[in-house]
Amino acid sequence: MLVDSYNRKHDYLRISLTDKCNLRCLYCMPLDLPESFLANRSMMSVDEIESIAKVFVDLGVSKIRLTGGEPLVRKEVREIISRLSKLPVQLALTTNAVLVDDFIDLFVEVGLRSVNVSLDSLDSATFKILSQREHFNKVIANIQLLLDRGFHVKLNMVVLKDVNHPEIPAFIEMTKNAHLHVRFIEFMPFTGNGWDHQQVFSSEEILSLVKDHFDFEKLNDRPNDTARNFRVNDYVGTFAIISTMTDPFCDTCNRLRLTSDGKMKNCLFSKGEADILSALRSGEDIVPIIQQCVWQKKAARGGQMTGDISTLSTDEIENRSMISIGG
Ligand code: SAM
Ligand code: SF4
Repeated sequence: MLVDSYNRKHDYLRISLTDKCNLRCLYCMPLDLPESFLANRSMMSVDEIESIAKVFVDLGVSKIRLTGGEPLVRKEVREIISRLSKLPVQLALTTNAVLVDDFIDLFVEVGLRSVNVSLDSLDSATFKILSQREHFNKVIANIQLLLDRGFHVKLNMVVLKDVNHPEIPAFIEMTKNAHLHVRFIEFMPFTGNGWDHQQVFSSEEILSLVKDHFDFEKLNDRPNDTARNFRVNDYVGTFAIISTMTDPFCDTCNRLRLTSDGKMKNCLFSKGEADILSALRSGEDIVPIIQQCVWQKKAARGGQMTGDISTLSTDEIENRSMISIGG
């Protein structure tokens, strides 16, 4: 079991398959990023992903989520999903859903039933402004496809004040008749994403807006939930708030991350990284490196962003861009 110095047990690994993407979400991809995509040789190969994943599983990991960048644009994604699905883990995926229709039969075949989809607007014009691409209709159709085929679907909406926050009630309305879980995520700062605290629509503001429109109840959260869960009375689906900026949930965090170039991060906001891929390539035992990386995990938010968020600037944060970490 992977335990840190605060006695948190880590059994959940998120593996980024690529830092490339078919969307350009403004809050995720730094404006200067297209020139800095990773070269193929510095990325983990399919064999390397499988070998590293197996070591984590032997160390107690029971859930693996594939992410990115956009995981479904990775050329060998079919092979990766097929191989990882044979491990004794719950396999899940986070995607922008643009390519889901190409892969849905594979998901069913290998038993991948849990898919998180990012969707920041129900209006095609706002979608285009935020993602810089025209894939709105495809994404909406693919979310419906996932629901029709019985997948467990969570919709992730990054809430930006005065951009998409007025759409929160409309997103909740989607849970009326569908087994859908909508999650509102506070906007987080990463290298190059131009974050400003004034753009954060806080958990408190979200709840206050929801109260104006619905009668709802608080649901019980599971032990390692990063979200606080709610349900509107009589609605089939649920909604949740991920309040990383104003009310972080680090005490119960069980997550570890592997970037597509094989660096391990013990927190989304960690400054340090453990170079698992180089160690693997030079024939070293990666187990102690993983264990040490877990042990060094800071109490909260990677030891960064400790003060009031109104005093925070992305210039002070040592990290990668979100797209190159793997959300
Ligand atoms: N491409 C896939 C997708 O969009 O779902 C997977 C990768 S994406 C980096 C994973 C999640 O991170 C998405 O739900 C996205 O909305 C979220 N995300 C990206 N940048 C963020 C930011 N600055 N603040 C909060 N969430 C962010
Ligand atoms: Fe791509 Fe996902 Fe980042 Fe949007 S949030 S740019 S879809 S990786």
